[in-house]
Amino acid sequence: MGDYSMDMKNPKPQSSAKPPKTANATARRKPALTKTAYTKAELEEIFRRFSIQRPEPKGELEHTNPFTLVVAVALSAQATDVGVNKATRALFKIADTPEKMLALGEEGVAQHIKTIGLYRNKAKNVIALSRKLIEDFGSEVPKTRDELVTLPGVGRKTANVVLSMAFGQATMAVDTHILRIANRIRLAPGKTPDEVEANLLRVIPEQYLFHAHHWLILHGRYTCKARRPECEHCIIADLCRSPEKTCDIPAPLVELPPQVIGQAVE
Ligand code: SF4
Repeated sequence: MGDYSMDMKNPKPQSSAKPPKTANATARRKPALTKTAYTKAELEEIFRRFSIQRPEPKGELEHTNPFTLVVAVALSAQATDVGVNKATRALFKIADTPEKMLALGEEGVAQHIKTIGLYRNKAKNVIALSRKLIEDFGSEVPKTRDELVTLPGVGRKTANVVLSMAFGQATMAVDTHILRIANRIRLAPGKTPDEVEANLLRVIPEQYLFHAHHWLILHGRYTCKARRPECEHCIIADLCRSPEKTCDIPAPLVELPPQVIGQAVE
């Protein structure tokens, strides 16, 4: 059983963020900065508990190298990880490099991924991104966000996932679960993924940043679910400030077994 005690010198909720310098500062192009509902001590405690529950969180998209990770993440838009994994297992066995993917051709890729939504468009992107990797990047997946987003079908979220999972960089890829949790529990409210990304990067304690996006995704997928949050199974139920919360007693703080792929409920 884990330890729920925390050092709360200032129990009053307050933002750890600096306020904007002027009223106009929020009205310009930069993502709007909003206040978290949690004190610095509470933020430390929330992520400390996540780190005990899942010491080594992993993404659920199967891949064998940075290239297959880029393809898997690009295919996962508007699809479940479980559905993508089913389709890519056979695909990656025969095409785990840009050259092999290009040789397979658009129709060959489409045949493998036709159980995934928007598969025609995605097959086109997979071929185009393979070609670009060969022509512009020496068949290697680039290691910067600016370069990654030049690949067809790769947006900021995909780039962030790749930087984190393939290259160990601390990023915050905001998916549907993170967008919901950040707003529902008022951790880092924001209207758009960009706003939430900027706010989360400000409020998450630095030592927890690397794993934070997986913790939040898994928390959203298995506990703080979209339709009905399972607050009775939640390890931060005592700290949570969501108006939707149904329970104040935190679940036992124990390390969970590695998540079983295939049981995800979207
Ligand atoms: S207490 Fe409920 S609403 Fe709050 S984080 Fe946990 S599951 Fe989500």
